Amino acid sequence: MGLTEIRNRIEKACREAGRNPQDVHLIAVSKVQPLERVEAVLDQGHRLFGENRVQEAAGKWPAFMERYDSVSVHLIGPLQTNKARQAMELFDAIHSVDRPKLASTIARLAQEMGQCPDLFIQVNTGEEDQKAGVMPAEADAFVAECRALDLPVRGLMCIPPVEETPSLHFALLAKIAERNGLAGLSMGMSSDFEQAIALGATHVRVGSAIFGERTTH
Ligand SMILES: *Cc1c(COP(=O)(O)O)cnc(C)c1O
Repeated sequence: MGLTEIRNRIEKACREAGRNPQDVHLIAVSKVQPLERVEAVLDQGHRLFGENRVQEAAGKWPAFMERYDSVSVHLIGPLQTNKARQAMELFDAIHSVDRPKLASTIARLAQEMGQCPDLFIQVNTGEEDQKAGVMPAEADAFVAECRALDLPVRGLMCIPPVEETPSLHFALLAKIAERNGLAGLSMGMSSDFEQAIALGATHVRVGSAIFGERTTH
């Protein structure tokens, strides 16, 4: 596989869903990939990337940003409040806002810094104990709480349980987004991004299908 094939598959999925490919952003998930692979994708002109750890991203992306224009990196993994400032300096979007304490920390820092990345609220659609995200039943209240803090909430994000049909989770996320008037839907990974597009994804997060298998996380 690789970038070109994934782009083609996204276009095809958009055609089949009657959607405009411009409305689906491909986040190339570069976590733990060798730098040469990331560089190859940058050289192909791709500019939107995803990382799941602040520390790892901070060690990798500033140097690439010096060399390549208009690079945008989104945080797609959990965020600790003590790394929120660093995350807000580095990332253009944070897809993992999932609790009141993090929301209020981001709001305070946004005031102080005079800027805030785009935010997505992570919903634990599978209600899994080990997974981050607000429970579906608490999502509306948490969206309202974030809005009351003046946070730029753009949409919702989910990671479906591995052993379940992802479409059910994508449909649930889309429903929660719609009733809250949120346009953004961060859903779909290497194995299921076409289904996510069919159900309205605006941001698909594709790692291994672009870069190759990862050795860890
Ligand atoms: C790693 C990761 C991805 C990409 O996974 P692939 O299966 O390699 O496409 C997407 N979203 C999140 C939150 C991830 O951590």
